[in-house]
Amino acid sequence: MKHIFFATNGLGGGGTNVSRFVVYFDIINLKNVGLLLNYYYLNTDIPKGTAFDQDILKEITQYSDINKFLEKVSEHFINKGRRVPLDQQSKIWSPKSILDSGIGNILRDMVVNNEYTHEKISELINDYHVFAENVSFEYVVALDYALKYTHKKGETESLDYKKFSSEIAAYEELNLDLLETTLGFRKTNRMKQKILAPIHGYDYNSYISNLNQILEIEMKVGVKFDGFAIGGIANTRSLDSDTWKVPAHFNKTQKSGFINASLTNEIKQFLLEKDDERWIHILGSGNIFNIPFITMFGGDSSDCHSAWRRASDGSREGTSRSKYLIPLLDSNLEFFNNRNLLKYIKIDEVSNIKCECSVCSEYNIEELKKLYFSNDNECHYYSKILLYIHSLNQYERIIEFSQKPDYISLLTKTPDNEFNTKCEELINTLLG
Ligand SMILES: [Zn+2]
Repeated sequence: MKHIFFATNGLGGGGTNVSRFVVYFDIINLKNVGLLLNYYYLNTDIPKGTAFDQDILKEITQYSDINKFLEKVSEHFINKGRRVPLDQQSKIWSPKSILDSGIGNILRDMVVNNEYTHEKISELINDYHVFAENVSFEYVVALDYALKYTHKKGETESLDYKKFSSEIAAYEELNLDLLETTLGFRKTNRMKQKILAPIHGYDYNSYISNLNQILEIEMKVGVKFDGFAIGGIANTRSLDSDTWKVPAHFNKTQKSGFINASLTNEIKQFLLEKDDERWIHILGSGNIFNIPFITMFGGDSSDCHSAWRRASDGSREGTSRSKYLIPLLDSNLEFFNNRNLLKYIKIDEVSNIKCECSVCSEYNIEELKKLYFSNDNECHYYSKILLYIHSLNQYERIIEFSQKPDYISLLTKTPDNEFNTKCEELINTLLG
């Protein structure tokens, strides 16, 4: 089965670039890349002060297909002049979609307004899934507290750890309660959406025990989730290498790849022993570099915000710049003769680069720079969207590439020796 990568987009939240991504859907042609959207931002019933046009957002309730609504949003912002003068293509990208709750923001708002109770969170479940069903989201990440269960070195003995473990236990119980409510809702409502249960933990064992608890709740309620979503490993920098058995000499890319792949493997194997072949999603899978490795160990889908951040976090002034992903694969899924493969490099520092994706065959790197540094704001925003689409094109290809029978060993035979070593060390450790 082919992996699906869900590009995240904060549609409905603020951010000048967010609306501009949608207006260029006609120049996107991707099959393996879908879209992750956020309930907190999309739902106008949740009061919040975002810069996004709430009037157009309210119209979502009139649509039965999220992609049809996105077409409407695109049209709306094109009429507002948020696109460079460019002939419109007739075919518009129609991505697979996954809905995440945006619980972090929901909780923050409730706490700030002194309104938080567990019951209030629990009551959101009904509306959340009805909303997802009404606009035909294909996948939905079940609502839970999604707190980071970090486990720092030395905490085993300390008071901190006692406090930590009692807090974790409390959240675990509350999370399980939310999942039980979700299953109860599912039991009494026929739905097309596929619901994924988030799994949390602070090391391999605690993830497995959390998964086991979820399976027990399914038995109790008598209805199952459609799959699982591994949470808490989006940013592995804060995770303790000893706890996660990461070799000390691994750099941050290898560490992220190792934890993502190993944890996916543990969960996949645990399920397979029970003849359970349900869907496994990795929430915030870190980096494009991880895709072949999580695919290899049974990850069916993932999402990640970093491609968007690298493309859109940057300005024309000062020293912060948007970044260009150094491509690995050409349209025949052969390796480019580039250095720094799959690294993000500041746009003004990129030269002599080979890429012939849909973006780079229209604009060479010098033309992209010209757009980026243009005084015309629309051209500048356009260049950021192009940088993003260029990255997504690589995601598309790396997913195709990960269909080749020997793709993992091929990754050690690229023209970039540094990249080869990085992959070889990771593969050797993963295969132990
Ligand atoms: Zn390109």
